[in-house]
Amino acid sequence: MAKHEPSKLNPRRRKVKILATVGPASRDPDMLRRLLLAGADAFRVNMSHGDHAGHAKTIDAIRALEKEFARPIAILCDLQGPKLRVGTFKEGERIVIPHGRHFTLDRNPEPGDATRVCLPHPELFGVLEKGQRLLIDDGKIRLKVVKASDDEILTTAEVGGVISDRKGVNVPDAVVPVPALTDKDRSDLAFAIEHGADWIALSFVQRPEDIAEARKLMGGYGALCAKIEKPAAVTRLDEILELSDAVMVARGDLGVELNPEDVPSLQKQIVNTARSIGKPVIVATQMLESMIENPTPTRAEVSDVANAVYDGADAVMLSAETAAGQWPEEAVTMMDRIAQKIEGDSSYAKRIRFHETRPDSTTADALSHACMTIAETVKISAVVVFTGSGSTARRVSRERPAVPVLVLTPSVLTARRLGLLWGAHAVATRDIGSFEGMIAKGKRMALRHGFGEAGSKLIMLAGVPFGTPGSTNLLHVVSLAGDELKKHSPD
Ligand code: PEP
Repeated sequence: MAKHEPSKLNPRRRKVKILATVGPASRDPDMLRRLLLAGADAFRVNMSHGDHAGHAKTIDAIRALEKEFARPIAILCDLQGPKLRVGTFKEGERIVIPHGRHFTLDRNPEPGDATRVCLPHPELFGVLEKGQRLLIDDGKIRLKVVKASDDEILTTAEVGGVISDRKGVNVPDAVVPVPALTDKDRSDLAFAIEHGADWIALSFVQRPEDIAEARKLMGGYGALCAKIEKPAAVTRLDEILELSDAVMVARGDLGVELNPEDVPSLQKQIVNTARSIGKPVIVATQMLESMIENPTPTRAEVSDVANAVYDGADAVMLSAETAAGQWPEEAVTMMDRIAQKIEGDSSYAKRIRFHETRPDSTTADALSHACMTIAETVKISAVVVFTGSGSTARRVSRERPAVPVLVLTPSVLTARRLGLLWGAHAVATRDIGSFEGMIAKGKRMALRHGFGEAGSKLIMLAGVPFGTPGSTNLLHVVSLAGDELKKHSPD
């Protein structure tokens, strides 16, 4: 990525970010380019599908686009996590389990039949108790435990249905003593780090220790996003968030492990908790689901995306819509249109503040809060934040200011990572060394990247001494003369 060129994409005024999952429908470089142009800010590589060779090609194609458009792009590699599955059936049969009938899960690796199947997860046998539920195939079949021993789990089908080879199993009522990362996850994580993924998402997080384990394996590379999809994770949300860099409301599995009607209030709880502490939160799954097959969404889907935007989520995600659907570009375009419409609504500013985030008692937060109130009092075109790690940008974004946040950072890695942060437009540029240098660069970059014109006012936020982490202590309001671009600059 050229470090300081203006992006060839128009500057985006949209605050909420769009995370698009890459898959067979979108991994072609031309389609990735179209998704970027349609509004995607970040791409998700789903390690549950495909192979390393294919993912490497996807990552290379995204990095090539980054160069082509001189715009940092976040890549999130989503690890499958300890997804539980049943074994196989005789000759790949599809078995009907009638309502009310007994069905046994055991440790016998022989193919299953109408009465039993292997559950190849020894950890489950010691923990499941009478009355607890096993949900098969995204909850389509609901089995209740009648009796559990070390070798067998006898169940009754509360809701029967068709079961076949390797269908997924959810056990919402128990904390399962499985490691946070399977062998596959470890190999996928090593791949993701080697290929420069900006974010790693961890699936089926149950405990804060799971996050700690992943962090240790990451060895300081990349940022970590906890997918909240287990009831156990919801009960320890604060601790999990504390250890993570971002969270995802993974509504697919969350709606299986819990009742679907539990998900909306949990979504709001997770979004608010993440916003309070200033960590990006992604709302994911089935956002424009019908666009997998249709060029237009249902009204209910539009409303769902709109509500996530009104709630102040940092990012909204497309899953199968862009990974495997027939209308990937249209899905991104539609998400962009919905977000822009909602952000332009006169009630948006009020609604997004419905959840109040109080500044911590730090200088950085006091100044970040001041940016928000100044922008409401004086006509400001952007807040320009100078940051190394991105931390000041997160504190400013946490305030959800009405104006864009132009983030100038010497770190390409930070610039990329901010692709999931509400309202942030990151530019990788050389570090500043003096107050005058900061003002000159802030003005130049604002003009160059379309965040102001002659006569506009900017707020600059930085830390002195420059380049010292955690030193945010300087807020300055400047006016643009408009001729700053003509001045020679060693950016
Ligand atoms: C989800 O369950 O909502 C989710 C995002 O995870 P995945 O797409 O990996 O199932």
